[in-house]
Amino acid sequence: MTLRKYVVGNWKMHGLAADITEIRAIADGAAALPQVDVALCLPTTLIHRAVEAVPGFPIGAQDLHFLPRGPQTGCIGAEMLVDAGARLTIVGHSERRDRERSAEVRAKAETAQANGLDVIVCVGESQAAHDAGETLETVCRLAIKSLPERIGGTALTLSYEPVWAIGSGMTPTSEEISEVTEALRSLLDRRYGEKGRGIRILYGGSVNARNAASIFAIPGVDGALVGGASLKATDFLPIIEAAAVAG
Ligand code: PEP
Repeated sequence: MTLRKYVVGNWKMHGLAADITEIRAIADGAAALPQVDVALCLPTTLIHRAVEAVPGFPIGAQDLHFLPRGPQTGCIGAEMLVDAGARLTIVGHSERRDRERSAEVRAKAETAQANGLDVIVCVGESQAAHDAGETLETVCRLAIKSLPERIGGTALTLSYEPVWAIGSGMTPTSEEISEVTEALRSLLDRRYGEKGRGIRILYGGSVNARNAASIFAIPGVDGALVGGASLKATDFLPIIEAAAVAG
């Protein structure tokens, strides 16, 4: 089953009001490639501003608390994200996994779903697990524990993000990525049956304009989660174009 490619930018702790021009350029460029689904996950402080600047373009968050509201100083709840206009959120990003267990990631995913947000669940192995040949075991274990119980009424996406590939300029081989996406696809089949067929599996980790085409050509890769190369339209749009060409 071929799924529409999905390319999501993760701005991490980057982005000020002045960067709205960049977000506009990305949204305009993405509008010219309607065959690809595109979204930007921004710092919380930029979400509402971006939603107003690019109405209709999906803006998301990078994390949320597993409770929708409450006495959690400094945290952001699903209701607040929806109120700000967010349509999706990442959960379980590798850059946060040292502070949260998979059960918490799953609770976050379920709270996001319950509040109408699309969810991207991230899983990935450490350098040590990769070197020890434990990639599939690690990634599947994390996916089993982190994925929500049900698919829910919003879009659920799984992103394979090897910890050692994030921001490092290193990527797994095509064979390695393909092995993981195959394992994750059968896990999704076992878990959700027919209903899980529409869940897209992204690859994330040092995707850029130079390697995007070869990554999108890997069987089982339905898109990409892009960090550093999503900050500038001139870097991000060629990745979206590569996804459009890959179809
Ligand atoms: C990410 O933030 O999810 C990511 C994959 O980062 P980068 O593309 O910079 O490696």
